[in-house]
Amino acid sequence: MLGLKRFRGGGVHPPENKDLSNHNRIINADLPKVVKIPLQQHAGAAAKCIVETGTEVKEGDLIGEAVGAFSANVHASIQGKVIDIVKESTVTGFESEMVVIEFEGTFQGQIGGQPLKVSWEGQARDVILKKIRAAGIVGLGGAAFPTHIKVSPPEDKKIELIVANGVECEPYLTCDHRLMLEKGMEIIEGLKILQRLLRVDKAIIGIENNKQDAIQYMDALCQKEENIDILPLKVNYPQGAEKQLIHAALGKEVPSGGLPMDLGCVVSNVGTLLAVYEAVVFDKPITDRVVTVTGTIVKKPGNYKTKIGTTIQDLLDECGLTEEAEKVIAGGPMMGFAQQFLDIPIVKGTSGILVLSQKEVEANEEQPCIRCGACIRVCPVYLMPCTMKELANANLFDEVKEIGLFDCIECGCCSYVCPSKIPLVQYFRLGKLMIKAEKHYINHKVPTIPIS
Ligand code: SF4
Ligand code: SF4
Repeated sequence: MLGLKRFRGGGVHPPENKDLSNHNRIINADLPKVVKIPLQQHAGAAAKCIVETGTEVKEGDLIGEAVGAFSANVHASIQGKVIDIVKESTVTGFESEMVVIEFEGTFQGQIGGQPLKVSWEGQARDVILKKIRAAGIVGLGGAAFPTHIKVSPPEDKKIELIVANGVECEPYLTCDHRLMLEKGMEIIEGLKILQRLLRVDKAIIGIENNKQDAIQYMDALCQKEENIDILPLKVNYPQGAEKQLIHAALGKEVPSGGLPMDLGCVVSNVGTLLAVYEAVVFDKPITDRVVTVTGTIVKKPGNYKTKIGTTIQDLLDECGLTEEAEKVIAGGPMMGFAQQFLDIPIVKGTSGILVLSQKEVEANEEQPCIRCGACIRVCPVYLMPCTMKELANANLFDEVKEIGLFDCIECGCCSYVCPSKIPLVQYFRLGKLMIKAEKHYINHKVPTIPIS
């Protein structure tokens, strides 16, 4: 095991609130009667719909085909019949075409019957890569970047280190923690598959030291693995962000606008590594993922293996609430997306559903900036959030771009420490969208970010 490390420069340590769900074993969520599966649930181009209303599908059937190199396949998560194809909002607020499937027949097991296990050691590297692409694997930590692209660096980028990301620094979320405890061996196999694919000897697994049981367990599993080390990390949000994790591991900074591969690194979330293992060994596409459903008013908080396309409402009906939810967030409180409606489907990048009560939300009314500078001190990429917000508010988009808007990793540290409860990160997300859409931001109220 390596010594304790952390990234330098900014960061915060919000209340973790992980004990609501971190002792609860992963269980299968109820099988939904209907799923709505977006064809755009990854970075890059939306998948092309290849089914139509009336098509009969089995779990794991391809329903959306990746378009071009930068896209990802999408599969049916339940067996049944396509009853509609709609265009609706996803958890991020963007619209996507969605395939609506109604369950029919008898449930055949979690992944469509007993799959055939094959050894990955004997598989050619191009076969492994094709399987990862075919399975529609994307980064399950939230970014949803297609994995087959991440593990296909250009020839001039020599990869020398793979970092497995088991940091899970977002408050409340515990799905990766449970995966390491319950699927640690499979995660390590997934890591070894990527080592073989990228011809990389060295790998490390980064885990924050608030997950001591996972550190000990993964370390025990790696005793015979000469080329895999465990890297315990001092708790400091947003340590799970790729660039911060690399900084903690190597002491080097990924340059502005650069990628981890510029430093010879590939970072992969532990859930993604499990998906890689299952794709290569069982030919299993991504049809489900573990979602932490949590919050003080959730009756049965826990980690639920959930079919992609299950609505948030279905999951909350299963978990139950002790009082009416004031705010529901897809993801954690720092980087998650507040939801206006609950008939929105879980997608590959949905790591959690956080439910907040009226009391927890009321404390966050936005006030004017008092120029305290707290947001500047905590920004892990050395930006000036208060200034960026003012420029964005004044529609000065060229200026806000110049001082680093696109370096913002949307970690929410600035919003978290702001005594005036200004939802800075929401302004930055909106600013980026406005710039991308080549429109100017009109000064209007944005939703407040919940703070735990
Ligand atoms: S400006 Fe961006 S990167 Fe900096 S603290 Fe705020 S959200 Fe995080
Ligand atoms: S933390 Fe909030 S109040 Fe303080 S300078 Fe930043 S935006 Fe202004």
